[in-house]
Amino acid sequence: MEQKYALDDVLISRGEIEKKTAELAAKVAADTPVSANGKKELIVVGILTGAVFFLTDLVRDLPEEMDVRVDFMSVSSYGNSTKSSGVVRIFHDLKTNIEGKNVLVVEDIVDTGRTFAYLLDLLHSRNPASLRTCVLLDKSARRETEVRVDYCGFNIPDAFVVGYGLDCAGMWRHLRDIRTVREG
Ligand code: 5GP
Repeated sequence: MEQKYALDDVLISRGEIEKKTAELAAKVAADTPVSANGKKELIVVGILTGAVFFLTDLVRDLPEEMDVRVDFMSVSSYGNSTKSSGVVRIFHDLKTNIEGKNVLVVEDIVDTGRTFAYLLDLLHSRNPASLRTCVLLDKSARRETEVRVDYCGFNIPDAFVVGYGLDCAGMWRHLRDIRTVREG
Protein backbone atom coordinates (compact mmCIF):
# COMPACT_ATOMS: atom_id res chain seq x y z
CA MET A 1 0.00 0.00 0.00
CA GLU A 2 1.27 3.46 -0.83
CA GLN A 3 2.17 5.46 2.28
CA LYS A 4 0.53 8.87 2.53
CA TYR A 5 2.95 10.44 5.01
CA ALA A 6 6.70 10.25 5.55
CA LEU A 7 8.86 11.22 8.51
CA ASP A 8 10.46 14.63 8.27
CA ASP A 9 12.75 16.69 10.55
CA VAL A 10 13.33 16.27 14.28
CA LEU A 11 11.43 19.12 15.92
CA ILE A 12 12.27 18.26 19.54
CA SER A 13 15.05 15.84 20.40
CA ARG A 14 14.96 13.13 23.07
CA GLY A 15 17.54 15.11 25.09
CA GLU A 16 15.38 18.22 25.09
CA ILE A 17 12.33 16.16 26.13
CA GLU A 18 14.28 14.55 28.97
CA LYS A 19 15.53 17.87 30.32
CA LYS A 20 12.11 19.53 30.08
CA THR A 21 10.36 16.58 31.74
CA ALA A 22 12.67 16.82 34.77
CA GLU A 23 12.00 20.57 35.02
CA LEU A 24 8.23 20.07 34.83
CA ALA A 25 8.31 17.30 37.45
CA ALA A 26 10.23 19.57 39.83
CA LYS A 27 7.59 22.30 39.39
CA VAL A 28 4.70 19.85 39.83
CA ALA A 29 6.26 18.48 43.01
CA ALA A 30 6.93 21.95 44.44
CA ASP A 31 3.34 23.05 43.76
CA THR A 32 1.62 19.97 45.20
CA PRO A 33 0.16 20.87 48.61
CA VAL A 34 0.95 18.81 51.70
CA SER A 35 -2.11 16.82 52.85
CA ALA A 36 -3.29 16.34 56.45
CA ASN A 37 -1.17 13.18 56.67
CA GLY A 38 1.97 15.21 55.97
CA LYS A 39 2.39 13.77 52.46
CA LYS A 40 2.19 15.33 49.05
CA GLU A 41 -0.55 13.28 47.43
CA LEU A 42 -1.14 13.40 43.70
CA ILE A 43 -3.31 11.43 41.29
CA VAL A 44 -1.78 11.65 37.83
CA VAL A 45 -4.35 11.11 35.09
CA GLY A 46 -3.01 10.20 31.67
CA ILE A 47 -5.00 10.52 28.49
CA LEU A 48 -4.58 7.38 26.40
CA THR A 49 -2.76 6.61 24.26
CA GLY A 50 -0.41 9.40 23.33
CA ALA A 51 0.28 10.76 26.83
CA VAL A 52 1.45 7.41 28.23
CA PHE A 53 5.03 7.90 27.09
CA PHE A 54 5.33 11.38 28.59
CA LEU A 55 3.46 10.44 31.77
CA THR A 56 5.67 7.48 32.59
CA ASP A 57 8.79 9.62 32.28
CA LEU A 58 7.23 12.51 34.21
CA VAL A 59 6.11 10.45 37.22
CA ARG A 60 9.50 8.77 37.50
CA ASP A 61 11.02 12.23 37.90
CA LEU A 62 8.78 12.98 40.91
CA PRO A 63 10.38 12.64 44.36
CA GLU A 64 9.98 9.16 45.87
CA GLU A 65 8.57 10.55 49.14
CA MET A 66 5.49 11.78 47.28
CA ASP A 67 2.33 9.66 47.30
CA VAL A 68 1.75 9.31 43.55
CA ARG A 69 -1.09 7.32 41.94
CA VAL A 70 -1.60 6.84 38.23
CA ASP A 71 -4.83 6.32 36.31
CA PHE A 72 -5.90 6.64 32.69
CA MET A 73 -8.78 7.82 30.56
CA SER A 74 -9.38 7.21 26.91
CA VAL A 75 -11.22 9.68 24.71
CA SER A 76 -11.62 9.98 20.99
CA SER A 77 -9.58 12.66 19.24
CA TYR A 78 -8.12 12.15 15.79
CA GLY A 79 -9.14 9.21 13.64
CA ASN A 80 -6.92 8.18 10.81
CA SER A 81 -6.41 11.67 9.46
CA THR A 82 -4.56 14.72 10.67
CA LYS A 83 -7.74 16.78 11.09
CA SER A 84 -9.73 17.02 14.33
CA SER A 85 -13.18 15.48 14.11
CA GLY A 86 -14.43 17.70 16.94
CA VAL A 87 -16.22 14.66 18.35
CA VAL A 88 -15.29 13.80 21.93
CA ARG A 89 -16.25 10.38 23.29
CA ILE A 90 -15.16 8.63 26.48
CA PHE A 91 -14.03 5.08 25.73
CA HIS A 92 -12.46 4.28 29.09
CA ASP A 93 -13.07 6.10 32.37
CA LEU A 94 -10.96 6.42 35.54
CA LYS A 95 -10.95 3.63 38.10
CA THR A 96 -10.10 6.14 40.83
CA ASN A 97 -12.50 8.39 42.72
CA ILE A 98 -10.86 11.82 42.47
CA GLU A 99 -13.22 13.64 44.84
CA GLY A 100 -11.18 15.69 47.35
CA LYS A 101 -7.87 14.67 45.73
CA ASN A 102 -5.10 16.63 44.03
CA VAL A 103 -5.23 15.73 40.36
CA LEU A 104 -2.73 16.37 37.59
CA VAL A 105 -4.01 15.67 34.07
CA VAL A 106 -1.26 14.80 31.61
CA GLU A 107 -1.79 15.22 27.89
CA ASP A 108 0.59 14.87 24.97
CA ILE A 109 -0.63 17.78 22.86
CA VAL A 110 -3.29 20.49 22.92
CA ASP A 111 -4.33 21.76 19.54
CA THR A 112 -7.77 23.42 19.23
CA GLY A 113 -8.31 22.58 22.91
CA ARG A 114 -11.70 20.99 22.31
CA THR A 115 -10.81 17.52 23.59
CA PHE A 116 -8.98 18.82 26.63
CA ALA A 117 -11.64 21.40 27.56
CA TYR A 118 -14.31 18.72 27.53
CA LEU A 119 -12.21 16.42 29.68
CA LEU A 120 -11.34 19.10 32.22
CA ASP A 121 -15.00 20.06 32.62
CA LEU A 122 -15.85 16.43 33.24
CA LEU A 123 -13.08 15.95 35.81
CA HIS A 124 -13.91 19.26 37.49
CA SER A 125 -17.52 18.09 38.00
CA ARG A 126 -16.14 15.24 40.14
CA ASN A 127 -14.94 17.78 42.76
CA PRO A 128 -11.21 17.16 43.08
CA ALA A 129 -9.38 19.26 45.73
CA SER A 130 -7.25 20.65 42.91
CA LEU A 131 -7.06 20.06 39.17
CA ARG A 132 -3.88 20.98 37.32
CA THR A 133 -2.79 20.22 33.79
CA CYS A 134 0.54 19.29 32.28
CA VAL A 135 0.90 19.28 28.51
CA LEU A 136 4.02 18.28 26.63
CA LEU A 137 3.21 20.17 23.43
CA ASP A 138 1.01 23.21 22.95
CA LYS A 139 -0.13 24.52 19.57
CA SER A 140 -1.49 27.63 21.26
CA ALA A 141 -1.87 29.55 17.97
CA ARG A 142 -4.59 27.08 16.93
CA ARG A 143 -6.65 27.33 20.10
CA GLU A 144 -10.43 27.52 19.57
CA THR A 145 -11.52 26.82 23.13
CA GLU A 146 -9.84 28.33 26.17
CA VAL A 147 -8.17 25.68 28.31
CA ARG A 148 -6.00 25.92 31.37
CA VAL A 149 -2.43 24.72 30.87
CA ASP A 150 -0.51 24.90 34.15
CA TYR A 151 2.67 23.18 32.97
CA CYS A 152 3.72 23.27 29.33
CA GLY A 153 6.71 21.51 27.81
CA PHE A 154 7.02 23.18 24.42
CA ASN A 155 5.00 25.65 22.42
CA ILE A 156 5.12 24.40 18.84
CA PRO A 157 4.08 25.84 15.48
CA ASP A 158 1.13 24.55 13.46
CA ALA A 159 2.68 21.38 12.07
CA PHE A 160 1.57 17.78 12.45
CA VAL A 161 4.03 15.96 14.71
CA VAL A 162 4.66 12.33 15.62
CA GLY A 163 6.87 10.37 18.00
CA TYR A 164 7.22 10.03 21.78
CA GLY A 165 3.63 8.77 21.97
CA LEU A 166 2.15 10.82 19.15
CA ASP A 167 0.90 8.85 16.17
CA CYS A 168 -0.19 9.23 12.60
CA ALA A 169 -2.82 6.58 11.86
CA GLY A 170 -1.36 4.47 14.68
CA MET A 171 2.24 4.71 13.49
CA TRP A 172 5.44 6.25 14.89
CA ARG A 173 4.46 6.44 18.55
CA HIS A 174 7.63 4.56 19.42
CA LEU A 175 10.07 7.18 18.13
CA ARG A 176 12.20 8.79 20.83
CA ASP A 177 12.26 12.23 19.20
CA ILE A 178 9.33 14.38 18.13
CA ARG A 179 9.31 14.72 14.36
CA THR A 180 7.25 16.48 11.74
CA VAL A 181 5.66 14.51 8.90
CA ARG A 182 5.28 15.44 5.26
CA GLU A 183 3.10 14.15 2.47
CA GLY A 184 5.06 11.43 0.80
P1 5GP B 1 -7.74 19.19 20.06
O1 5GP B 1 -9.07 18.76 20.57
O2 5GP B 1 -6.95 20.02 21.02
O3 5GP B 1 -7.86 19.85 18.71
O4 5GP B 1 -6.95 17.87 19.71
C1 5GP B 1 -6.16 17.24 20.62
C2 5GP B 1 -5.79 15.88 20.12
O5 5GP B 1 -5.51 15.91 18.72
C3 5GP B 1 -4.52 15.39 20.79
O6 5GP B 1 -4.80 14.67 21.96
C4 5GP B 1 -3.94 14.51 19.69
O7 5GP B 1 -4.47 13.22 19.79
C5 5GP B 1 -4.42 15.13 18.40
N1 5GP B 1 -3.41 15.99 17.76
C6 5GP B 1 -3.42 17.34 17.63
N2 5GP B 1 -2.33 17.78 16.98
C7 5GP B 1 -1.60 16.69 16.71
C8 5GP B 1 -0.32 16.49 16.08
O8 5GP B 1 0.38 17.40 15.62
N3 5GP B 1 0.11 15.19 16.00
C9 5GP B 1 -0.60 14.14 16.49
N4 5GP B 1 -0.07 12.93 16.35
N5 5GP B 1 -1.80 14.30 17.10
C10 5GP B 1 -2.28 15.55 17.21
